Amino acid sequence: MIPVNSVLQVGQFPEIMQMEIDKRLSTTKLLDPQGAVPDGNFTAILTRSNTTLPQKLLEQIPTVRMVATCGVGYDNLPLDYLRVNGIKASNTPGVLNDAVCELAIGMLFGLLRRIPEAQEFVKSTAWAKAPFTITTTLAGKCVGIAGMGRIGQDLAKRLEPFKVKLAYTGPSQKELPYQYFPDIKSLAKASDVLFLACPANPETEKMVNSEVLQALGPRGYLINISRGNVVDEAALLVALQQKTIAGAALDVFENEPNPNVGFLNIDNVLLTPHIGSATSETRQLMTNLAIDNLEAFYNKKPLLTEVKN
Ligand code: NAP
Repeated sequence: MIPVNSVLQVGQFPEIMQMEIDKRLSTTKLLDPQGAVPDGNFTAILTRSNTTLPQKLLEQIPTVRMVATCGVGYDNLPLDYLRVNGIKASNTPGVLNDAVCELAIGMLFGLLRRIPEAQEFVKSTAWAKAPFTITTTLAGKCVGIAGMGRIGQDLAKRLEPFKVKLAYTGPSQKELPYQYFPDIKSLAKASDVLFLACPANPETEKMVNSEVLQALGPRGYLINISRGNVVDEAALLVALQQKTIAGAALDVFENEPNPNVGFLNIDNVLLTPHIGSATSETRQLMTNLAIDNLEAFYNKKPLLTEVKN
């Protein structure tokens, strides 16, 4: 049982998520996280991964002992502050794998076969004047995955039937039938397509830099479904403009929802507005898992999916 108005909702939630929240909870809402803290006796916060939770907000509500975020990435939370003050946190892993992997596969073929451009070609009647450009087959290629966690492994399984060789990198080698590379540069060198599926943290910040892009090479494609700051976007833009890589599909950006305008003016990219988990089914599952965690907290039970901070 979650006490009425004990949870402060921070940030705006899409309608489908808000409906789930309002079905199960009576929250007080702070739609702008930088806004004034409403009156109340709050002991937990519910937020989501596109909302950066300010430390100064938590400092103003020392009664808060738990933060539930909707999303598997928790780089939106002030982790040091939570740790030092013994505030628990939960995320929503696993339930979004299907949606994120389905988008990743869509981005892969959209990019290699230039599907968005092909549609524009038909719609603009350019087809009547000349044939569409010749594109690239996936079969026979090496697909690298940086971040072989829940999403990375699910993605690899879905890629197996496409007749590709799979490889990966990450801090630990796993018992998987794919080739392991100890660092991203060597993985990029071996890959025709490089997926990013790792978390955003100090170690992964700008991990894909100009050297990694050079290793990926002029026939290589980059697909980022992790977080924008895992890539040095300035270096990526130069690589795309100079065609030192073949193309990139990006669901996430350093500056959302206003990505670097350079990406908007080149043709070897496929861009989506951070929609990895944005299906109604998945968003309902995420919201309910976040609320299940809040319930566990108020019932003094172990959190279902605690962020080990
Ligand atoms: P996860 O299960 O924690 O997996 C993350 C994996 O990344 C782990 O296998 C980890 O390796 C690996 N990793 C950590 N540091 C790394 C590094 N420096 N280089 C390469 N790999 C590294 O998380 P998940 O559920 O798969 O989610 C992964 C990320 O996807 C999230 O953190 C989030 O940022 C992103 N995401 C994006 C969307 C979207 O809408 N686009 C949606 C959901 C998630 P070890 O196993 O060795 O620790």
